Amino acid sequence: MMPGRSRPVPGPYDGEAALIRDILKMGDPRLLRVAKPVEDPADPALGPIIADMVETMHATNGVGLAAPQIGVDLRLVIFGFDTNPRYPDEAPVPATTLINPWLKILTDETEDGWEGCLSVPGLRGLVPRATHIRYGGILEGGEVLEREARGFHARVFQHEYDHLDGILYPQRIRDMTKFGFIEALFPGSLLAAVEAESAA
Ligand SMILES: [Zn+2]
Repeated sequence: MMPGRSRPVPGPYDGEAALIRDILKMGDPRLLRVAKPVEDPADPALGPIIADMVETMHATNGVGLAAPQIGVDLRLVIFGFDTNPRYPDEAPVPATTLINPWLKILTDETEDGWEGCLSVPGLRGLVPRATHIRYGGILEGGEVLEREARGFHARVFQHEYDHLDGILYPQRIRDMTKFGFIEALFPGSLLAAVEAESAA
C-alpha cells in the first residue's frame, strides 16, 4: 500500500499542485460515518480538498468521489465525466462539485445497473436506483445549484450521496449473486483490462 502523502506546507490554498490521495477501502470505519455538514461553504480550506479530490478521481478513472473516501468527514462530493473507460457506454454527466448536497427521489420506479466504487476496487454489483431525482447543493463558487437527473446521471449522484450517509453500494445489492470481481463477471472484456490497469 502506498503511504499517505501530505501537503508539505499546511495552510490556505495558494495554488500549489493538487495531490492524488489514498482512497479508503471498504472495511474502514471512516466510510461508515454520517458525514458532517460543511459549516462555511466559503471556507478557503475547502479549495485544496476539492483540488485533491478532482486529481484523485481523474487519476483513478472515477466518475465520482465523496470526501469521506479520502478520510475527510464532510458533506462534499464531486462527480462527472465526458467519457470514462470504466463506464464506456454511459452518456456524459456534467463535471460538478457540490457542498452540502441534498437529494429528492421523484419516482417509485427503480432500475438495476452495474456499479463499481473506488473504495471497493475490482468488483461490480447490480444495484437498484431511483430512475428520476432532483438534487442540489452549493457550488464551489457559492452559487446554489438545483438539477433534475435520470438514468446513469441519477445513479452516480445517488451513489455519491450515499457515501455521505456512510452507505456503500454493496449494502444496496438485492441479489448477492450479482456481486463479484470484474474479471469473473465480465471475462475478457475491455472493462476487465481497464480495471486491471487501474489497479496496477
Ligand atoms: Zn463509491
